[in-house]
Amino acid sequence: MRVLFVSAEVSPFAKTGGLADVALALPRSLAASGIDVRVVMPKYRAVGDKTETREETRLSVPVAGAEKPCVVFSGSLPESEVPIHFLGNDPYYDRPEIYGEGAEYPDALERFTFFSRGALELCAALEWIPDLIHINDWHTGLIPGYLADHVVPGLESARTLLTIHNLGYQGEFPGDQAAIPGLSESTLEPYWHRSKLNLLKGGILRADLVNTVSPTYAEEILHEGAGLEEALRAREDSLFGVINGIDMDEWDPATDSHLWATFDKDDLAGKAENKARLQEELGLAADPAAPILGVISRLAEQKGFDLVMSAFDRMMELPVQFVLLGTGSEEYEAFFREAQTRYAGRVSSMITFSEPWAHRIEAASDMFLMPSHYEPCGLNQQYSLRYGTVPVVRATGGLRDTVHPYDSATDDGNGFLFEQPTPEAFLDAVRRAVDLFTQDPEAWDRLRRRGMAQDLSWDASAVAYRKLYEKTLESA
Ligand code: ADP
Repeated sequence: MRVLFVSAEVSPFAKTGGLADVALALPRSLAASGIDVRVVMPKYRAVGDKTETREETRLSVPVAGAEKPCVVFSGSLPESEVPIHFLGNDPYYDRPEIYGEGAEYPDALERFTFFSRGALELCAALEWIPDLIHINDWHTGLIPGYLADHVVPGLESARTLLTIHNLGYQGEFPGDQAAIPGLSESTLEPYWHRSKLNLLKGGILRADLVNTVSPTYAEEILHEGAGLEEALRAREDSLFGVINGIDMDEWDPATDSHLWATFDKDDLAGKAENKARLQEELGLAADPAAPILGVISRLAEQKGFDLVMSAFDRMMELPVQFVLLGTGSEEYEAFFREAQTRYAGRVSSMITFSEPWAHRIEAASDMFLMPSHYEPCGLNQQYSLRYGTVPVVRATGGLRDTVHPYDSATDDGNGFLFEQPTPEAFLDAVRRAVDLFTQDPEAWDRLRRRGMAQDLSWDASAVAYRKLYEKTLESA
């Protein structure tokens, strides 16, 4: 089976969220299981510093009725032989950021029209014809449209699977930009949504099969689908949920080079050392008895920071320390900066994006907070489990599928959950976790070791995707 995996983000070349991690791990797992897979992404400015590439070919890609030059660079995914192609066009991608500086770049539709159309032109140029094109999120939503319009010869038999990583981002553009993709009027029809172009909606309606990144989210979005419920319900029989795995090598506390000390489930001494070092480095009180509540996140509304902020002072009445790593909304950034000043020695806010610090905070924290309003899958709660850091999460989407409530009677479960998106319910879950930590260290120890023993690898998810690919091809 030949699969082209098309993604606007691929770790480590460009990443803003979980999509990038999936785009690295899943193709590697698929290749290991014998699928002939290639990855394609835009050649953003940052890509050049991160990998060796060679110029593969040159293409011409129609965008808004004009031919745009495309220089294709090729390389392979790190620690694998999976080919990755980078579609280059400097005016579109040689910019400081991936999506925008502050606001989204105003020519976003052109940039991802170029990318989607370019990915197909590349297949034709290389005479490498995929059986299946695995498209991801709105950036690639035009691809099934191009296939329907037969704009690239040779791809008539290619099927599409659309994975929705986050329904909160739909690629919505004013109607007067409708000529940019260059689709026929009838093919464009399902892309219209309330007088605007909506690339995700068109992708949902036009892809052969659709999935989201957890079974619970796949059900939830039929009723709470960010305005696309109708489209999703129309595809209900073709809509599936596959939970993301994690990269167990990249996230392995036994070998993690970012840590001050390594550890595993049989010897947690290194975890205590990381905690002491984190407290020292961040100017927190050197107190092994104070549970550290960790947060690593985009500072976006989705992630439930309104709950954290409302409950913050009450939460800090508990004997805890709080460490946050994140960037995003100015309001949230300001709140957490200020909280660090108000709670000097107990709160540390690192308003930045840093992979090494993400690893250190996972290793050093005792609990990880993820009070999301919605969560398609969520990776950080899974990294937390692997690092012996107990997740405290809202019971939604992938969080519900991966975090199972601690039960003292049966000594079961791997974390703490709350149902209602209220500050009180959030606080109650934090309190339950802190109580167990302070009052029953042995039960706490068993709880975190249970999490560390779980197999969260991509193996099971890759098998599920393979089945989905087969189903997609059968849908032909
Ligand atoms: P989402 O994709 O919605 O942002 P996920 O939990 O699925 O949420 O994935 C988030 C990914 O981004 C994780 O790998 C997380 O560690 C990483 N991440 C988010 N913010 C930061 C940050 N400030 N520094 C480092 N990594 C971050």
